[in-house]
Amino acid sequence: MQDVAANPLLATWESPFAVPPFAQIAPEHFPPAFEAALGEHRAEVDAIRDQATGPDFDNTIAAMERAGERLKRTVGVFFNLSGAHTNPEIQKIEREIAPKLSRHSSAIHLDPKLFARIAAIFEARESAGLTSEQIRLIERYHLGFTRAGAHLGEAERARLAEIAQRLAELGTAFSQNVLADESGFTLVLEGEADIAGLPDFLIKAAARAARDRDLGEGQYVITLARSSIEPFLQFSERRDLREKAFRAWTMRGDGTAHDNAAIMSETLRLRDERAKLLGYADYAAYKLDDTMAKTPQAVSDLLSRVWKPAVARADAERDALAALARAEGANDAIAPWDWRYYAEKERQRAHALEEAEIKPYFQLDNIIQAAFHVAQRLFGLQFTPRDDVPVYHPDVRAWEVLDAQGAHMGLFYGDYFARASKRSGAWASSYRGQRNLDERVRPIIVNVMNFSAPAEGEPALLSFDDARTLFHEFGHALHGLLSDVTYPSLAGTNVSRDFVELPSQLYEHWLEVPEILERFAVHAQTGKPMPAGLRERLAQARNFNQGFATVEYCASALVDLDMHAHAEDAAADPIAFERAALSRIGMPDAIEMRHRSPHFAHIFSGEGYSAGYYSYLWSEVLDADAFAAFTEAGDPFDPQVAQRLHDFIYAAGNLRDPEDAYRGFRDRLPDVGPLLEKRGLA
Ligand SMILES: [Zn+2]
Repeated sequence: MQDVAANPLLATWESPFAVPPFAQIAPEHFPPAFEAALGEHRAEVDAIRDQATGPDFDNTIAAMERAGERLKRTVGVFFNLSGAHTNPEIQKIEREIAPKLSRHSSAIHLDPKLFARIAAIFEARESAGLTSEQIRLIERYHLGFTRAGAHLGEAERARLAEIAQRLAELGTAFSQNVLADESGFTLVLEGEADIAGLPDFLIKAAARAARDRDLGEGQYVITLARSSIEPFLQFSERRDLREKAFRAWTMRGDGTAHDNAAIMSETLRLRDERAKLLGYADYAAYKLDDTMAKTPQAVSDLLSRVWKPAVARADAERDALAALARAEGANDAIAPWDWRYYAEKERQRAHALEEAEIKPYFQLDNIIQAAFHVAQRLFGLQFTPRDDVPVYHPDVRAWEVLDAQGAHMGLFYGDYFARASKRSGAWASSYRGQRNLDERVRPIIVNVMNFSAPAEGEPALLSFDDARTLFHEFGHALHGLLSDVTYPSLAGTNVSRDFVELPSQLYEHWLEVPEILERFAVHAQTGKPMPAGLRERLAQARNFNQGFATVEYCASALVDLDMHAHAEDAAADPIAFERAALSRIGMPDAIEMRHRSPHFAHIFSGEGYSAGYYSYLWSEVLDADAFAAFTEAGDPFDPQVAQRLHDFIYAAGNLRDPEDAYRGFRDRLPDVGPLLEKRGLA
């Protein structure tokens, strides 16, 4: 038995900004820390529940907000590491701890005595002399408990707890299967013929990936990380290799050694059962009830408004690609593994833009500075590198964030390069959230990316998409860093899924502001800014291939919604259901879904985006409409618009219902027009 007192996860953190002492934390510290922190939190909650004094806001709701400090801290460290820097030991602990955490949370949310206190405070909320933030918080608690089933009978509550625990296990198993299929596949290239067409940056990254795997000189490795497979599909002249890589990519979790079908079926059945226990028609209705969209019908309406023009556009795009292929003597129909390849050629032909021509202008360090600069212009933030702050991997960088007056606003970690211990994708997360309860506590936020690391001594270069991803995740980071609320559960990104992408997607717009490109998109070798002509072509090229992009995205969103609205059919055979759903909507043959369901981690490795993948598009309606506010003001940094954006969106966490927050910023609800225009579908 370890000495709990010596466990660094449970000790007071003396490092700068009280960041986790990463160097002292070893995997074996987690199980005893979780055990102690879970027990501590349960004892705190029991004391709140069992106190003799009748329920009021402070002794119940605020007390709940204060509880579980060490648990939050341990969870923060653990799940950040399990995503960004994992190992078999951490994975094993994750499998064990996920169901325990879920059991713990269920037990609290299904506690009838605790719920009775919350319900009493909820009933009396308007007449208790509370602030609007406190009333909002009570409503969130009440909703959270009723959505968990606290108002149900004992047998039903027990069943809900069982379901939640099993779902947590299934979610972990699902993502571990996907990771296993991802890291288990490498496409090894050898000799000139295998690398035909590949640009320099990809060859170098593939050579580095080969060295990482102890392969010899002259060998290259393409992996299933998006930053490796996508450019390969875009540039490789070898149709046979493209097909091989594409099939491995799209078959992750489907008929492989790590098949996910049984996990999906059980997940869908359990989610449906829970929704029905809680009184909803199906899981989609349950899930959407607490969003800005509110109903499956509203989502379905949005998706069908966009789907038709997107397919029409994609069909025209495919015809153009087929003509290009025929001109080169390739007479086969365009297959999904051909699309990116010919689209790249078409892009070069029609827009004279080559990724290889663009990339030297997007140096990672400059794009980071560009993101900081925009935050300074809009919100007055300053960023100071801090080499004295502990990090969890040598690639991770740390900055202190200050406001215009030099006051501390938080700490920002950037972890940019792909590695084997990191799951794929890009995300923002936090080690500590913001709160002003009792004391001013500022957040620790991290951005994690999977960019290809540069060769020794060379600058890291990004594609335009990578640069956009960096801005996107940085928008999430700002949502955490600017947060200024009293209660921790209303802070930062704790908002509904279809609203949380507004700050991130909106932020992408500033990457394309000419003045930003002019200043930060300078050539890695020559140091010259991107020529105006190239900038313009880049802007024009934005609408290029939007039929494809919209179709592959909407297909995933529609299948997600469909599966969760028809769980019984979907669970019987998820793969067949996916196929049938796609055929019903008239999915073009030449396009694959952006995420096929057997590796759709967004919807199966947790519930964050289940029946919620649409939310990116929903948020895009918001972001297009929101940026139009700056366009209408005639200045992308208009101080008054920026101030309202700060007050109602970036700093406001979950202080208001999303519709009210948006109305506060824009004086009206969003319109879908700017989105169709932005995607060139109008
Ligand atoms: Zn996002």
